[in-house]
Amino acid sequence: MSSDRIKIVWIYPDLLSTYGDQGNTIVLERRAALRGIPTETVSLRSDEPVPADGDIYLLGGGEDRPQILAAQRLRGDGGLARAVQSGAVVFAVCAGYQLLGHEFGGEEGQPVPGLGLLDIRSGRGEQRAVGEIVGDVAGELNVPRITGFENHQGVTQIGPNARPFAKVLHGVGNGDGNGFEGAYSGRVLGTYMHGPALVRNPGLADLLLRWAVGRDIPPLDDSWAGRLREERLQSVMS
Ligand code: GLN
Repeated sequence: MSSDRIKIVWIYPDLLSTYGDQGNTIVLERRAALRGIPTETVSLRSDEPVPADGDIYLLGGGEDRPQILAAQRLRGDGGLARAVQSGAVVFAVCAGYQLLGHEFGGEEGQPVPGLGLLDIRSGRGEQRAVGEIVGDVAGELNVPRITGFENHQGVTQIGPNARPFAKVLHGVGNGDGNGFEGAYSGRVLGTYMHGPALVRNPGLADLLLRWAVGRDIPPLDDSWAGRLREERLQSVMS
């Protein structure tokens, strides 16, 4: 997938769009356009088949029951797994992140099978994690310090075939006691950050675009986003 036209697939807005993560699609479209890269975005409802020819698949957060339904439908469909096999980029937030793993906790904490596309396992924590989150991203990803907003009950453990996305400096993140937030493997990346994540972290949007086009892309003037980040960092970390 290294053509300079990007097909973005926004998965199941009818189930996984409770927390405003759709803003991530807008940021990708805009930042691609500023580099002269055309995009096409498909908003895919949960009764439609998942196209296998997407370049970037986005999943958002959701409440427990819609999350379970989304996982069932995506497992039954199989299109996302095929896309990952052929090298597509996946960026998933919170409920979307959890359902990429082997299993996650349902509304009563019962284990629900996920898609097994990321080597993580989630269960239900004692306390809901709600608030600002700040983290330093794994060095090889070349993304500046991230900020976001988390709101989840789930606790996530990372297996040997995935790596932590960021080290938590403030907030909870995966909440398994290891001090990390999110996970990635290949071009599949999950995070607990809402915000929406790519609005608050344009460097992360650019990582996904680089993966999708298979080359470096020119930097943009991100001073506005940088100022917002500094403001958040100062109020959270001081
Ligand atoms: N239902 C999941 C949890 O509480 C995901 C929540 C979310 O997407 N914000 O952990």
